[in-house]
Amino acid sequence: MKTLGYAALSATSPLAPFAFERRALRPNDVAMEILYCGVCHSDLHTSRNDWGWTSFPNVPGHEIVGRVIEVGGEVTQHAVGDIVAVGCLVDSCQHCDQCHGGEEQYCRNGRTDTYNSPDRISGEITKGGYSKHIVVREEFVLSVPPGLDPARTGPLLCAGITTYSPLRTWNVGPGSRVGVIGLGGLGHMAVKLAAAMGAHVTVLSRSTDKQADALALGADSLLASSNKRRWPRRRRVST
Ligand SMILES: [Zn+2]
Ligand SMILES: [Zn+2]
Repeated sequence: MKTLGYAALSATSPLAPFAFERRALRPNDVAMEILYCGVCHSDLHTSRNDWGWTSFPNVPGHEIVGRVIEVGGEVTQHAVGDIVAVGCLVDSCQHCDQCHGGEEQYCRNGRTDTYNSPDRISGEITKGGYSKHIVVREEFVLSVPPGLDPARTGPLLCAGITTYSPLRTWNVGPGSRVGVIGLGGLGHMAVKLAAAMGAHVTVLSRSTDKQADALALGADSLLASSNKRRWPRRRRVST
């Protein structure tokens, strides 16, 4: 399938329109038309080769929301017309202990990232959501429930899961006290999720500039880390 995206051709060139081919559907593949894609700072790091492992041209984007346009013959979970989403992973072996435990990111045989990662079968470098279409293995395609606005869903796929995962791992709920360092792309998501889970949430920020936003998002308080400590005055002891 021919498609169009935005790619960085080198670590110093800006993203530019880029025509390329999506693979033909395998039996367990879902093809989608991409409707929205979030922007994650990892997209920038990869495009600038900040981590030293970028294959160019690089089409970033791993907060993808789209509409299914075609499914492979063995696909059972998704149908044409469904609103679906794809995050940071598009494949893993599906038969090791990590995959069976729902920890596909730690797949013993190597996970496949949504972009800048060799496809497990063809070896071609994956290309992400800054494009019109994508083809993804069924197990890595998520259903977007009807109540969720597709235009606002993208950030859940990376910033959202990154903060949701530790909150669930540590059983955060009523009675928990959660500290969120920095109210940025991930931090604001952590505040909303932890508050929704019933936790007492404190944002740690350099100044009080974001206090109103923090409270509006559900935090109970904001602690400014640059505030000078006020120690109780010591009484001078005469010798
Ligand atoms: Zn990301
Ligand atoms: Zn595996």
